[in-house]
Amino acid sequence: MSRNIYDLIGLIAAVAFILALKGLSSPKSARNGNLMGAAGATLVTVLVFFYEKPAHLVLIILAIVVGSAIGVPTARKVKMTAMPQLVALFNGVGGGAAALVAIVEYLRLGSTSSAGDVAATIFTVIVGCVSFTGSIVTFLKLQELMTTRPVVFAGGRFLIAFVLATVVGAAGWVAVSRGSLALGVLSILSLIFGVLFVLPVGGADVPIVISLLNAFTGLTVAASGYVLQTTVLIVAGTLVGASGTILTRKMAQAMGRPIYGILFGAFTATPTAALNAADARPVRSGSADDVAILLAYARRVVIVPGFGLAVAQAQHTVRELADLLTARGVDVAYAIHPVAGRMPGHMNVLLAEANVPYEQLVEMEEINPTFAQTDVALVVGANDVVNPAAKTSPGCPIYGMPILDVGNAANVIFLKRSMRPGFAGIENELLYDPKTTLLFGDAKASLTKVVSALKAF
Ligand code: NDP
Repeated sequence: MSRNIYDLIGLIAAVAFILALKGLSSPKSARNGNLMGAAGATLVTVLVFFYEKPAHLVLIILAIVVGSAIGVPTARKVKMTAMPQLVALFNGVGGGAAALVAIVEYLRLGSTSSAGDVAATIFTVIVGCVSFTGSIVTFLKLQELMTTRPVVFAGGRFLIAFVLATVVGAAGWVAVSRGSLALGVLSILSLIFGVLFVLPVGGADVPIVISLLNAFTGLTVAASGYVLQTTVLIVAGTLVGASGTILTRKMAQAMGRPIYGILFGAFTATPTAALNAADARPVRSGSADDVAILLAYARRVVIVPGFGLAVAQAQHTVRELADLLTARGVDVAYAIHPVAGRMPGHMNVLLAEANVPYEQLVEMEEINPTFAQTDVALVVGANDVVNPAAKTSPGCPIYGMPILDVGNAANVIFLKRSMRPGFAGIENELLYDPKTTLLFGDAKASLTKVVSALKAF
């Protein structure tokens, strides 16, 4: 195959990646966008076999078979609610792979590597290793295999600063010595730094860190492309790096968090006492009939979906309820918080699955001023995104995050199973508010009972 044809196919793949990003920018075209990106990736993977004629064909095919045998069933079986941790894990593996490729190529080139190759290798190893271990920690947090609260310990910031300084020192050592021992030390220190970097991140900032690590991985892939002299890797890596950076900025803006605060939060975080240990204050709980009566006599109801809606898979039942209310002349809208659930756009995806009309989904800035004219805010499995502590409790993990102002509605109904807090691990004062009614139970079961009660009216 001539170089021209190779470049032309690479260009087609690059265009496919750009069209994929365009498609992914709207729920309607996201599926096609995804397919387009996959087609581009398949094209360039196959292309390598014909153009580069790789030496270790058997090993490469074996790696593809093993990777597919693990990846395909995992991706097919994963529950929607566990998707973010799977993405975090895949993303980390991508960063780790880019770092490994750079190390192997560096060892192969030996003393023939140029200054540019060495700089790209150092960059790829540091960022790839940080992305690898950082993503594993976010996976553990999202899977709740470790605490979701910030892990902060006395002297932690000094330890982080010290490890960062040793990473910089080891990078200098690699640049000067060009030795493999120095590169090994740099890799290990970068792996440790990745863990320390993400440990102090808690609750609300985790989505932003996932997006940031994803952007990091893109940049490492681009740097690997430079070392390997592969244009399509540079294009694909740069696209992931750029789009990940834009997503990180947008999420940080939506949550009122300066990016430097997240990046350097590890250096400034101090140990905080657990906020409001669970206490036994009374709450007002109600039955499905009570809730149905409140809803039936309302003029305006705002449904606030959260992570619990995804856990309960209650999106179809919530739509049934909304349709019933609309048929009774009630004005119904859904309030969408940018980080409700466990991944960006989680609620939009769930509600789209239940064919909820897109115009009923209202973004936070737009719906917040309307809560004062709302008779009932029906909170279905949401907690952090409506927690007033984000406004009133400086130092709590979600302080500063904009919330849905459901407390301004005349009545608030929470559908949840217990008094357990949400992802950030902090109590919600709104649960104790006199205008709040709690309907305990799995959201789908509770909604089904409310629907039956409404029908019986
Ligand atoms: P939360 O995690 O704050 O609250 C979820 C609520 O759902 C809990 O109160 C839980 O209470 C309830 N719940 C769980 N299962 C069920 C069920 N089967 N039936 C009824 N209720 C249920 O979710 P939010 O959506 O309010 O907030 C999202 C949080 O996740 C934020 O802190 C955000 O920063 C973080 N995050 C978001 C990401 C994103 O990109 N969107 C990614 C990573 C983290 P109980 O157990 O009592 O039922």
